[in-house]
Amino acid sequence: MGFPVCYSDFMFSKLIFHILSVFSIIRKLISTFFRFIGLQDFIEPHTSGSHNSTQIIHEILPVVSYKELVDPPDNCAVCLNEFEEVDEIRRLANCTHVFHRGCLDRWIEYDQKTCPLCRTPFIPHDMQGAFDERLWATSAAAL
Ligand SMILES: [Zn+2]
Ligand SMILES: [Zn+2]
Repeated sequence: MGFPVCYSDFMFSKLIFHILSVFSIIRKLISTFFRFIGLQDFIEPHTSGSHNSTQIIHEILPVVSYKELVDPPDNCAVCLNEFEEVDEIRRLANCTHVFHRGCLDRWIEYDQKTCPLCRTPFIPHDMQGAFDERLWATSAAAL
């Protein structure tokens, strides 16, 4: 009588799998809907204000590979390691200092909004307005 047991187990896990995939589809639909009406934070309440600004900063600061840089420095001022050809680099829009992507991301996560080397704000003056507007919009949605 082994076969029917195995068979029903198989059916059961298949059923669970179906239920889970239906749930994930529903969840995706709901989150798409909320994103559409601008209430992303309603379903993801852990998204804090500083997280929003971090995300926007990430979007603004371009990631380039080290070998694309013209006249780059030898070391990253955050970790003091030498850059390698294949490293992903974040170049600051304002002061054009460059750092490892990971190093700068960690720095930004500490809620820093200035260059670790020269303390120039990440956001250039002409982009500050757009940045504040987006930050305001995402914070307002969280209320
Ligand atoms: Zn580094
Ligand atoms: Zn700098």
